[in-house]
Amino acid sequence: MVALIKRFTRNGVPLRMLILGAPGAGKGTQSSRIRNHFAVTTISSGDVLRRNILEQTPAGQQAQVSVARGELVPDNLIVSLIRNELETIQNNNWLLDGFPRNLAQAQALDQMLLATDQPLNAVVNLNVPEHVILNRIIERYVHVPSGRVYNLTYNPPKVPGVDDITGEPLEHRPDDNPESFKRRLQQYHALTEPLLEYYRKAGVLASFAGDTSDIIFPQLKEFLDERFD
Ligand code: ADP
Repeated sequence: MVALIKRFTRNGVPLRMLILGAPGAGKGTQSSRIRNHFAVTTISSGDVLRRNILEQTPAGQQAQVSVARGELVPDNLIVSLIRNELETIQNNNWLLDGFPRNLAQAQALDQMLLATDQPLNAVVNLNVPEHVILNRIIERYVHVPSGRVYNLTYNPPKVPGVDDITGEPLEHRPDDNPESFKRRLQQYHALTEPLLEYYRKAGVLASFAGDTSDIIFPQLKEFLDERFD
C-alpha cells in the first residue's frame, strides 16, 4: 500500500522543523519515516558532511579529521554548508537533523531565518535512554551516498551488507567506535542539550520518549498530522 503523502501545512506557512536528540537516538530513522507521510525535505548535517568527505571537497577535507574523532566541525564550516542547502530548498517544508548542535549555531540559524521571516515552528526532541542508544550504535550501518541507515536487529537490509535501493555496500561508520561515540555523547550533553531550554523558552519545543523508533514514530506522526491538511 502506498502511503498518502500530505503536502501542505494547515496554516500555509512552510514547516521549519528541527529534530534534536543524542547521537543514536534515531533522528535519521525518524526523518526518513516522516518523508514517507509528509512532503518535507530533510537535511542531515552528518550526511552533508559525509558526502563532502566522500567527494573530498574543500569543506570535506577540512571536516574529515574532526568527524572521524567524533568532534564537532568548526561552526563557520557547518553554518555555511547548511546555508547553501537551505537556499536550494527555498520555500518547501524542511526539517534539519543534526544542526544546530550548540548555541552559536542556533543563533546563526535564527539569523538566517530572520532574512525570510520564517522562524522555526517545530522543534522535536527524541528522548531515548542512554543504555538503549549504546547498544544500537554497535548495530548501525549506513549507505553513505544516500544517508540511508540500517540496524541489524530492527531494520536489517534485505541482503546482508548492501543497500536495498542501489545494491551498493553498507559501511559501519568510522565514528561509531566506542571511543568516538563516548566523545559524541559527552559533547551532546555539554553543548546540544542546553538548546532544549533555548527552544522551550521560544515556545516551539515538543519532546517524545521511547525505547524504540516504532514507539516514538506514531507520536511524531500525530504531532505532524495536526500541522498538515
Ligand atoms: P550522530 O548524531 O550520530 O553523532 P551525525 O551524523 O549527526 O551523527 O554527525 C556525525 C559527525 O558530524 C559529528 O560527530 C560531528 O563530527 C559532525 N557534525 C554533524 N553535525 C554537526 C554540527 N551541526 N556541528 C558540528 N559538527 C557536526
